[in-house]
Amino acid sequence: MHAVSTDFATKSFWLGNDEYTAGPSLEGDLEVDVAIVGAGFTGLSTAFHLHKADPSLRIAILESEVVGYGASGRNAGFSMTKIGMMHSFTATRFGKTKAREAHLYADRAVTLLKDLIEELDLDCDYEHTGFLWVATSEKYSKRLLKEIALVHRLGLTGVNLIEHADLIERVNSPLYKGPAWWEPNTGILNPAKLSREWRRVLDGAGVPIYENTPVLTMDMAAGRQRLRTPHGTVTANKVVLATNAWTHEFPQLATKQVPVWTYIVLTEPLTDEQLDSIGWRGREGVEDFRDLVHYYRLTADNRLLMGGRDVGLGDGKGMGFDDSPQTWERLRDDIRAIFPGLRDVRFSHAWGGPVSATLDMFPAIGYAGSKDVVYSMGCVGHGVSTTHLNGQTIRDLVLERDTDLTDVFFVNRKLIPFPPGGLGHAVAGQIANFLRWEDRRLDVLG
Ligand SMILES: Cc1cc2nc3c(=O)[nH]c(=O)nc-3n(C[C@H](O)[C@H](O)[C@H](O)COP(=O)(O)OP(=O)(O)OC[C@H]3O[C@@H](n4cnc5c(N)ncnc54)[C@H](O)[C@@H]3O)c2cc1C
Repeated sequence: MHAVSTDFATKSFWLGNDEYTAGPSLEGDLEVDVAIVGAGFTGLSTAFHLHKADPSLRIAILESEVVGYGASGRNAGFSMTKIGMMHSFTATRFGKTKAREAHLYADRAVTLLKDLIEELDLDCDYEHTGFLWVATSEKYSKRLLKEIALVHRLGLTGVNLIEHADLIERVNSPLYKGPAWWEPNTGILNPAKLSREWRRVLDGAGVPIYENTPVLTMDMAAGRQRLRTPHGTVTANKVVLATNAWTHEFPQLATKQVPVWTYIVLTEPLTDEQLDSIGWRGREGVEDFRDLVHYYRLTADNRLLMGGRDVGLGDGKGMGFDDSPQTWERLRDDIRAIFPGLRDVRFSHAWGGPVSATLDMFPAIGYAGSKDVVYSMGCVGHGVSTTHLNGQTIRDLVLERDTDLTDVFFVNRKLIPFPPGGLGHAVAGQIANFLRWEDRRLDVLG
């Protein structure tokens, strides 16, 4: 009998809401062409696209817990064009041309995910609702207007400015200030259902996923990587590290990213009266313009999910920081402040999960040391759709094909490393403190 992960159902409302039986773990040695470590959206999409490109490839996914255990089964389910932080930040860091390129990649990712859901009939409560970016202070409203103007100067289409009256008509909060960013080509979904639907598709294609199978060590040697797991060793020509916020646990990538936690609260299903007080007939995904944003949406059964407001940085070593009672309490207060009609709403769930942050908060995909090992990391809180397109990009890197995807500027880019040891954690702490200070100074929610 393989060990069965027992705590996954407590890791998010989504992961606990439907029955799930873990698949087999690896018992014995295995030889494959491509071993994929991690069964989140990155690993699952990579496996799907590799198998589609060459069905004769022997592929195996190794997952330390269960499919969707990481960020992919815990996120807020926004399929959106955000990539990295915001366009102005990307333009400052990489230049305007690359900021435009990044947006187009993310927009392509949203469309790809929508198409995959349709084509493969992935049952994940997908709704193509559009996305609203709102401001809750005059200062952030000014910044939001500048951001929309920049996007238009970059020649990007699909992002519209809607006036305040139109915003309030859609989602009614007394805290909203000024016009809003309105972007129709985005959606919301149930991420754990999506992860498990990927398992169904891969099971059908004969691509094995070994759950409860942590990779303990990776020995790299030309053309023959050896991955040690508790009950067997996998020998692979190529390895994909789709381990996201856990990636620093591999010594080869120890300083390239740090885990950062974001937290979510969920209400009971809203009554008709509570819903009427907000409007929200279009069920759009909403984010505010704070540095440490709030993100919120309705679920299929009309609960209000809100996450963000602060981040957790852990202790710079372990991964056990999924709970933050203090952040959850502040999020509950924020819901009541943003939507006074929900002052008596009851809350049913709270959870958190780690995202992967590089020092410049932008994704990075590439070869680790040799062309035999590919990594992907740094999607921060914006990976639901991009990870799906990243699966195609990683496919091309594994197959050593030069394509428009491998040409994208954040593939094989030079990453600024975090200082090693505790210093990396201290740097992340300083960045978070600055963002908290700015929000306290500039936003009514403090
Ligand atoms: C609370 C929260 C809210 C978010 N909201 C949104 C949102 O609304 N929209 C959006 O676009 N993005 C959001 N994100 C980010 C998004 O979820 C991630 O970018 C995306 O899911 C990352 O997918 P992934 O497959 O790369 O990583 P993950 O889903 O984290 O998968 C990594 C997997 O690797 C496994 N693993 C790690 N180490 C090993 C090992 N040694 N051996 C075997 N397996 C291992 C882990 O168990 C895990 O299952 C959110 C994230 C969080 C945490």
